[in-house]
Amino acid sequence: MRALVKARPEKGIWLEERPVPEIGPKDVLVKVRKTGICGTDVHIYNWDEWAQKTVPVPLVTGHEFAGEVAAVGEEVDGLAVGQRVSGEGHVVSMNSRASRAGKFHLDPHTKGIGVNLPGAFADYVRIPAFNAVPLPDSVDDEMGAILDPLGNAVHTALAFDIVGEDVLVTGAGPIGIMGAAVARHVGARHVVITDVNPRRLELAGQVADVTPVNVASEELRTVMDRLGMKEGFDVGLEMSGAPAALDQMIEHMVMGGRIALLGIPARPFPFDLGKVVFRMITLKGIYGREMFETWHKMLAMLETGLDVRKVITRRMKAEDYAEAFALAAKGEEGKIVLEW
Ligand code: NAD
Ligand code: ZN
Repeated sequence: MRALVKARPEKGIWLEERPVPEIGPKDVLVKVRKTGICGTDVHIYNWDEWAQKTVPVPLVTGHEFAGEVAAVGEEVDGLAVGQRVSGEGHVVSMNSRASRAGKFHLDPHTKGIGVNLPGAFADYVRIPAFNAVPLPDSVDDEMGAILDPLGNAVHTALAFDIVGEDVLVTGAGPIGIMGAAVARHVGARHVVITDVNPRRLELAGQVADVTPVNVASEELRTVMDRLGMKEGFDVGLEMSGAPAALDQMIEHMVMGGRIALLGIPARPFPFDLGKVVFRMITLKGIYGREMFETWHKMLAMLETGLDVRKVITRRMKAEDYAEAFALAAKGEEGKIVLEW
């Protein structure tokens, strides 16, 4: 089969022939139809410090996918050949306290498909049947291929009650834009999204009815005044990983505001903890998706009018991966979907 392989410990990724994975009794083999390129894949492509520490070479990469079940292990129940699926890319152990309590997303032994385990940028991927998520007919393959990042957005946006609340999203990358769309869908009042990249802010405005703000040229306070906001944002969704964005968020929250943090900072950085204390702000880290509550809610919302399709700005053939990765690295696109 074809596969995009991190074949050597250096910058790049290579399309190679690989054997189709063999499955164990509790696995399914998925015939991959569409995959999404993630920021994580770009880190692996660039072979930065994090990738060097994390990724075993050689490894088939990719973790955002949709396809069709092509084979099922002998102990698998409830999944049959031909079933359309996406899948949770975090593979958990069943032995930790968290897993045994049903909180699989808190399992400390989590491994990542396409990060530590063979991935989905390939004609076939093996996943534990536990990780497979059947797709309703109304969710097509390209939407199925971006459920992993949409799940990050949903997990973050639903971390706190946002109904009727004023929500600030920092970072209009694909996940920030989808997070803002989710906030709008579930009934936030004002949804303001910030970035320093005009192209991405423009995309945010196309995907959802939100207020884009370029914080490189516009005062957030001025926008809040224009919207009639008196005190500050009730809920913050940090989706940039930029220290400046967190500072700005903390500065513009109400007393008792709640902040969900998804963005991953490149390195440790100082911030004004005193303000967090005096304003009684809650900070909550978010990792991955809740298994499988986030998946349930996300599919339910997609079936009832949540529309984030416009966040996909490129559809390309797997063979054109070099161009696709170059575009992803530039940071001007929304989601880029590869067809297998
Ligand atoms: P992305 O890099 O495409 O988007 C980040 C955006 O933040 C960019 O558009 C950038 O211009 C913007 N930005 C930079 N400085 C800013 C500032 N001062 N104010 C506002 N915006 C600013 O990333 P993405 O793919 O949308 O993912 C969002 C974040 O979530 C990334 O940090 C990513 O690493 C992280 N992530 C976390 C998890 C998790 O499980 N916690 C999972 C996936 C992604
Ligand atoms: Zn991803």
